Amino acid sequence: MTLKLYNTLTRKKETFKPIKKGEVKLYSCGPTVYNYAHIGNLRTYIFNDLLVRSLKFLGYKTTQVMNLTDVDDKTIKGSKKEGITLKELTEKYAKIFFDDLRELNVTKPDLVIKATHSIKEMVKLIQDLIKKGYAYKTEDGIYFSISKSKDYGKLAQLDRIKSKKARVKNDEYDKENAQDFALWKFWTPEDENVFWETEIGKGRPGWHIECSAMSMKEFGPSLDIHTGAIDLIFPHHTNEIAQSEAATGKKFVNYWLHGGFLTMSEGKMSKSLGNVIYLRNLIEQGFKPLEYRYLCLSTHYRMPLSFNEESLVSAKNSYQRLKNLASELKDDKKKNEKYLEEFTKALEDDLNTPNALSVLWVMLRDEKAEGKYQTLKEMDRVLGLDIFKKDKIEIPKKVEELAQQRETARKNKEWKKADELREKIKQLGFILEDTPKGTEIRKIE
Ligand code: AMP
Ligand code: ZN
Repeated sequence: MTLKLYNTLTRKKETFKPIKKGEVKLYSCGPTVYNYAHIGNLRTYIFNDLLVRSLKFLGYKTTQVMNLTDVDDKTIKGSKKEGITLKELTEKYAKIFFDDLRELNVTKPDLVIKATHSIKEMVKLIQDLIKKGYAYKTEDGIYFSISKSKDYGKLAQLDRIKSKKARVKNDEYDKENAQDFALWKFWTPEDENVFWETEIGKGRPGWHIECSAMSMKEFGPSLDIHTGAIDLIFPHHTNEIAQSEAATGKKFVNYWLHGGFLTMSEGKMSKSLGNVIYLRNLIEQGFKPLEYRYLCLSTHYRMPLSFNEESLVSAKNSYQRLKNLASELKDDKKKNEKYLEEFTKALEDDLNTPNALSVLWVMLRDEKAEGKYQTLKEMDRVLGLDIFKKDKIEIPKKVEELAQQRETARKNKEWKKADELREKIKQLGFILEDTPKGTEIRKIE
């Protein structure tokens, strides 16, 4: 079988054919770093990671580029609110974002580019658009004229725009309002010290031009896959296509992949609705980040995932059962080709992880199956669940104190006291093991 991916551009599952055989150029819209990423945002990065891991598993060489939006309407507002500079604000939240990704086992993209490091490329792109007649200047900025664009809105399946005069300066606007959008925003006092003095004027870029410039900076005019969640189809990705294709005359992206939303009972999880949960909230409640990852993988990436505690508890239980079963497996040095093939087939079908996970469970329950250990290891290259990694155990303070006292007793050759302390520790569910490296505390299973 071959890999099939659902392409938003055609609304079909298509056989995946990269521009260059065996190699994939992939661009993922990264976070706007003005606040913590919520677990809905993180679901989208788990999907990006699943895609990259699957492509690698299937033998492709991948290059993944991700941007950090570190200047836009929201980041400027955020820095004012927190009373710190734009750089301080965006660096703070970028660090937290990558810490979260690490906890979720999301592999860092090959290249992470900051928007503020690509202003030169953005200016050049806007100049090209002006020269070609796609962009025009007004008193407050430089705008892209959607009426000049061929097939504007094809990704979002928008009807041809009727009013061609309307204009919007905000980075975000709704579907009902397809309008000329800002490529470059001239400085206003509200922007304070956030501006660049450039050949196209003093100001800052609009959000949409950032991703076009950054992806073309690394990949040239065309790339294989571009990802984001469904909210980005319009206006962000629609505008990216319009600008890029107007400037280069070439097809910008061959496959557009969009992840479904994480929803709450009242609708999508979003900062503007105020119904957000962060990864650290889950950790405070006693959940592990990889239990959340398991939850995400048990729903297809394109489907909405309705979040509630019950489903997270059920993911936690399945994940722990999986780890327990894995820890009992013996390595017979074989691979189970039958199950590996079924697992691969599920992935090749638009990354169907719910099916891939059910293949995994059928294999584990199959008493006659050989090669479970090695096969599970292979599967985990894609799932990224650290199935064989031993959980770090939390050692209660009391146990540590008693272990310390025993150490002192041993040094003083008070053997009886040392034995009594070891017994006390055992009663608390822990065992002491004297190794050449010193004494280790282990939990009694
Ligand atoms: P932002 O930082 O707001 O630019 O969003 C970062 C990523 O998260 C983008 O790809 C969004 O499409 C995605 N996203 C936003 N809200 C959700 C949600 N509720 N569920 C899944 N992905 C989301
Ligand atoms: Zn983007």
